[in-house]
Amino acid sequence: MTTRNDCLARDAQDPLAALRDQFDLPPHVIYLDGNSLGARPKAALPRAQQVIAQEWGHDLIRSWNTAGWFDLPKRLGNRLAPLIGAADGEVVVTDTTSVNLFKALAAALHMQAADPDPARQARRVIVTERSNFPTDIYMAQGLSSWLERGYSVKLVDSVEELPAAIGADTAVVMLTHVNYRTGYQHDMRATSALAHAAGALIVWDLAHSAGAVPVALNDDGADLAVGCTYKYLNGGPGSPAFIWVPRRHQAAFRQPLSGWWGHAAPFAMAPDFAPADGIGRALCGTQPVVSLAMVECGLDVFDQTSMAAIRAKSLALTDLFITLVEQRCADHPLGLVTPREHARRGSQVSFTHPHGYAVMTALIARGVIGDYREPAIMRFGFTPLYTSFADVWDAVEILRDILDRKDYNVDAKRDAVT
Ligand SMILES: *Cc1c(COP(=O)(O)O)cnc(C)c1O
Repeated sequence: MTTRNDCLARDAQDPLAALRDQFDLPPHVIYLDGNSLGARPKAALPRAQQVIAQEWGHDLIRSWNTAGWFDLPKRLGNRLAPLIGAADGEVVVTDTTSVNLFKALAAALHMQAADPDPARQARRVIVTERSNFPTDIYMAQGLSSWLERGYSVKLVDSVEELPAAIGADTAVVMLTHVNYRTGYQHDMRATSALAHAAGALIVWDLAHSAGAVPVALNDDGADLAVGCTYKYLNGGPGSPAFIWVPRRHQAAFRQPLSGWWGHAAPFAMAPDFAPADGIGRALCGTQPVVSLAMVECGLDVFDQTSMAAIRAKSLALTDLFITLVEQRCADHPLGLVTPREHARRGSQVSFTHPHGYAVMTALIARGVIGDYREPAIMRFGFTPLYTSFADVWDAVEILRDILDRKDYNVDAKRDAVT
């Protein structure tokens, strides 16, 4: 049986333990929701002060050049690229995940429609999962119906159904690499190969992967990808998202949000749009610079370790959490939703409980912050940069105490956002 002292001993051996000090977390909180909003790097506060007081307040409009504001989407994209197996000049940090999905899907449909092969041009179906995060499905549905060219979205109910669902009519497969609710991780290489064998392109959403699990976009044959910076990358609430366009697809990549930042010569102020060479064509317009600048503070922490070290600790934390919950809360109706198999697991663990919402509310009231997702799922995110093994022990003990004493209110009123 594991004890709290065993957990403390593991923390003493943990090569990532020192990085926790780079985050500002409130006392008496065990934060297991970094998969929804990452914790604040301490450096973000002085950086925000510098951007607001010096770059904006003092240097004013000159900062577009002197502080590098204009190049920030590309510069941050290059810094993020190694974390997702992308190359220099293939990623920009810009806009939201939803908006970047729109661009990526539109570009992928265009690439098929512009293919010399008539069989490719005729493809009209976007395949995704019913369990995907809703905005991904909504954006695909919105784009398909607005095009009014017979496009539709096909929803599959399980991973096993994907091979049969991807066929001669499939233009694009759009999948979220790590499922937000269950923590299931797709096999990117095998699924990308499956799409390609059927003549389809594949767009990956890395919202729950970037900074959480190793990703090898180029090596695994992905076509396009998008993702979030405010989750595991700790960029701050609403920080801009990213889009990846591999060099091999950049010339063919055309997206309809053809704003001036994506123009080949934005300051020529020409009346006609001409897309920039390279990744610049994925941009649209002026970015929220204050928020964008914070993304760098999150990325700075990743420079001090590796995704391999992060993954090793993530699996150790999630294994420990699963084991302790199953041992110490064995008398309670908890159901593990997240795969036990390491290769299929992201960096979160989800358990169902018939009163999941009430139990999660009680946990949060006692300082263990996870979240709740319909139906009946309690979700716990594990962020190796700032979560300790002792945190895992303490969180499970508080969960056990709440369950043993039935110390939760089944009539708890629901918040709009949890
Ligand atoms: C978090 C998340 C998003 C968020 O999209 P926004 O445009 O930033 O609101 C999108 N897709 C997935 C899969 C997510 O997990």
